[in-house]
Amino acid sequence: PQLANQIAAGEVVERPASVVKELLENSLDSGANRIELDVEQGGVKLIRLRDNGSGIEKDDLPLALSRHATSKITALEDLEAVGSLGFRGEALASISSVSRLTLTSRTAAQDAAWSVSAQGRDMTTEVVPAAHPEGTTVEMRDLFFNTPARRKFLKTEKTEFRHLEEVVKRLALSRYDVGFGLKHNAKVVHQLRPASTEVAREQRLGQLLGKAFVEQSVAMDVVAEASGLRLWGWMGLPTFSRSLPDQQYFFVNGRVIRDKVVTHAVRQAYQDVLFHGRHPAYVLYLELDPALVDVNVHPTKHEVRFRESRLVHDFIFRTLYRVIADLRP
Ligand code: ADP
Ligand code: MG
Repeated sequence: PQLANQIAAGEVVERPASVVKELLENSLDSGANRIELDVEQGGVKLIRLRDNGSGIEKDDLPLALSRHATSKITALEDLEAVGSLGFRGEALASISSVSRLTLTSRTAAQDAAWSVSAQGRDMTTEVVPAAHPEGTTVEMRDLFFNTPARRKFLKTEKTEFRHLEEVVKRLALSRYDVGFGLKHNAKVVHQLRPASTEVAREQRLGQLLGKAFVEQSVAMDVVAEASGLRLWGWMGLPTFSRSLPDQQYFFVNGRVIRDKVVTHAVRQAYQDVLFHGRHPAYVLYLELDPALVDVNVHPTKHEVRFRESRLVHDFIFRTLYRVIADLRP
């Protein structure tokens, strides 16, 4: 089984950022609304995530590290309706096969915390007592310590951290109700409190994308009565258009996606009216009936398939076009 884990690890664990993505999704699945991340050396030396979610029962701790031991498999059929982010049941197994991993947790029903560890191929199923508040801490050290070939593909500390931070950013932009803390080499990079008001959301936006984006963008919230489609968020103004092309975030039902239909609609709206070929910056959220969209085209590549892509395209284009047109002097 260990060999299978290491092969599978290639699919999930590419770099520290992919570890963080899996760990964050697990925490969100567990209902956490407070997540603290500590990373060292771009995440290669250490990734420690602590959450205040449901926790893992003592007897389930060794299972959580074994392959295909998902607690979410029953939700597989109506995954979209359930909204669970992870379902493959192999992320922790894969990560632990290429690192030194400790999982410490305490549920509300337990009055003590417990811990399990794995070091690459050596997985102990021994559960030892630990000190921990309600919730879970996953500590991953020395990524790829036992797979030098893979370690060679890692980029510089700075680059790896940039990828990791991007993962945190995307989730922080999709879950305003959750507080996120991120430290790199003991320095605070982000400290985001749960944001329930528009002012608080804009504050978070400013912390993640810079105050200039908030100041030079327009907020919107438009619902199409007939189709139930809703588009809300922020569009950068032309004065902010010199920003890099990666200041573009589009979420569909809370998940960040990259999609041709969406990109085309946004671009067309901007270019026709204001931008004339320059890169727009935006943070936009499309909400629609889950039955109208297929989000599991690929679990890790942020793809979607709209059942009625024409309708979606036209709604996005028209909404943005109108918002932009209103801004013209
Ligand atoms: P999956 O998320 O696909 O089920 P994982 O390998 O990511 O598989 O996690 C295995 C199991 O460990 C999960 O199904 C869940 O029961 C448990 N688990 C992992 N992380 C957490 C967490 N932060 N809080 C609570 N339970 C967790
Ligand atoms: Mg998972």
